[in-house]
Amino acid sequence: MPENLHDFVASLPKAELHVHLLGAATVDTVLDLARRHPAAGVPAERAELAEFYTFRDFDHFLKVYWAVQSLITGRDDVHTLVTGLARDLAAQNVRYAEVTVTPYNHLLDGLSGDDLLDGLAAGRAAAARDHGVELAWCFDIPGEKGAKAGRETLAFALGERPDGLVAFGLGGPETGVGRALFAPMFTAAREAGLHSVPHAGETTGPATVWSAVHDLGAERIGHGTSAAADPRLLEHLAEHRIPLEVCPTSNVRTRQVGSLEAHPVRRLLDHGVAVTLNTDDPGMFGATLNGEYVAVAEALGLTRGEIAQLARNAVAASFLSDSPRDALLAEIDAVAT
Ligand SMILES: [Zn+2]
Repeated sequence: MPENLHDFVASLPKAELHVHLLGAATVDTVLDLARRHPAAGVPAERAELAEFYTFRDFDHFLKVYWAVQSLITGRDDVHTLVTGLARDLAAQNVRYAEVTVTPYNHLLDGLSGDDLLDGLAAGRAAAARDHGVELAWCFDIPGEKGAKAGRETLAFALGERPDGLVAFGLGGPETGVGRALFAPMFTAAREAGLHSVPHAGETTGPATVWSAVHDLGAERIGHGTSAAADPRLLEHLAEHRIPLEVCPTSNVRTRQVGSLEAHPVRRLLDHGVAVTLNTDDPGMFGATLNGEYVAVAEALGLTRGEIAQLARNAVAASFLSDSPRDALLAEIDAVAT
């Protein structure tokens, strides 16, 4: 077992369960896209782009997000996003990732459904072939765009049903966007065999997490950090093995928590909740999955055994089939013993 904490974390094979395809784009990836589409107005020089890409506040983050989205106009752009992500995941020793894609927003921005699907499929094949990273998809509803976005995301997901699509999600702001509005779409998605993984409890309280569980049949919760304020909810999540996709750097950058030391992840762990660590929008927050593990381990004083357990939690909470899941767990055990 490597002595150094960074080396130990890097040596653990990992799964990432909460990462947005668009928000994962690093400066290198956006540079490729910006040079391909100079008219879009996104800086195509590295220094200028790095400056534009430095997180300032949430409004600026949204501006960057929409700017990058406007660069995704064809199949090759989607392919660039996916292979850029696969390269970055491989560098973190991530073997498997469930990646959130928001088809409704891409189609609204003028990308065709065929280009999106072709780019995802070709990118996924290249990720496995060139980087040894297995990718799966979660198609999510941009909640702020309402029930219409929900219905159209569902129709696209079930109508196209691309290889690797395993989950159905709900993202966007939580305030003023009740989870229950999307209950019919989640029921239909689950009946069709997709897993339910809505965001909840990132920017609003435990009631949103309860709603995700009761109204959307959540099998995992995106973020869910506000559950820490509700002991009964913690008990429910632990008892029913509903894992949380915790994204510590994201929570600090968007000021949902003051610091990593103040992050409720310790409380979640102490209550037996299956916590997984994730990056959310790593390109835009300058986060890496290894960095999340190291930061949490240092902030909470975790043992090597506890760190390895976090890696196991993510694999166990994934929608991998039995055989690759068991193989990945065995690899983690081999590193951690
Ligand atoms: Zn997210």
